Amino acid sequence: MLTPITDSEIYLDGGAMNGVVPRTLWSKHSPPDARGRIKLVTRCVLFRDTARGRTWLIDTGMGDGWDEKSQRIYGITKVSGGLPTSLKTAGIAPADVTDVVLTHLHFDHCAGTVTHDGDTVRLAFPKARIHIQKKQLEWALKPSLKDRASYRQDDLSCIAASTQLVLHDGAAQLSPGVSVTPCNGHTAGMQTVTLHSAGTDYVFAADLIPIFSHIRIPWVMAYDNYPVTTMEEKRAFLDRAAALGQVIISAHDPVTEAGRVKRIEANRYELMPVEL
Ligand SMILES: [Zn+2]
Repeated sequence: MLTPITDSEIYLDGGAMNGVVPRTLWSKHSPPDARGRIKLVTRCVLFRDTARGRTWLIDTGMGDGWDEKSQRIYGITKVSGGLPTSLKTAGIAPADVTDVVLTHLHFDHCAGTVTHDGDTVRLAFPKARIHIQKKQLEWALKPSLKDRASYRQDDLSCIAASTQLVLHDGAAQLSPGVSVTPCNGHTAGMQTVTLHSAGTDYVFAADLIPIFSHIRIPWVMAYDNYPVTTMEEKRAFLDRAAALGQVIISAHDPVTEAGRVKRIEANRYELMPVEL
């Protein structure tokens, strides 16, 4: 059983989110606030595989380690109390989570893997294996100047020290219903996650297609380390999703959680929203 969970609302600069796309175009899809920021969410996915007794969590949201100034800068607001509260509502205790798959280690995807108590940082899901691409962990511990600000080294030290860390080197089948596929345009060794549930493949697109306006191939974030690589990876991802009828789940779209895509012609796709 698959359940999307919106952890937080956050606000990021609309220009940075849309790269070379002119504001007159992107502002129709993502209206900026007075400071030029656009509203996003941090979405996670809970996947309960009762047949195998495993409880999966894909990405972990913003976590609880933010001071007031940072909360203001990013406009962080927890949705329904945030991930821990939503898990509790769904009847899941932190120790019930058997596996956490992190698409990558930028804070808006992994910060909820840890919890802060004063200066103490500890793992939020004490029994969970943590699945990451080896390449992403190496990159995160020594990031480029371009994406350095997206990593919180205190959180990463705690994650990297976990005895439950499972490092993957490329595409991997983690269980019959869960697989990961690496891509490298956004950051080295990011991974998209495919979940097979009730006869349908759901693909969590991470930051390859962070919001659905980005199904347009040239709409690439200025945050990406290798934007041309993102464009190539996105085209292959969308062609595959369209051909196989996969449901794409968005990590950051504030309005639409998920959708199928139809290929109209080369480099042009149409989204058909799907209720999860
Ligand atoms: Zn990212």
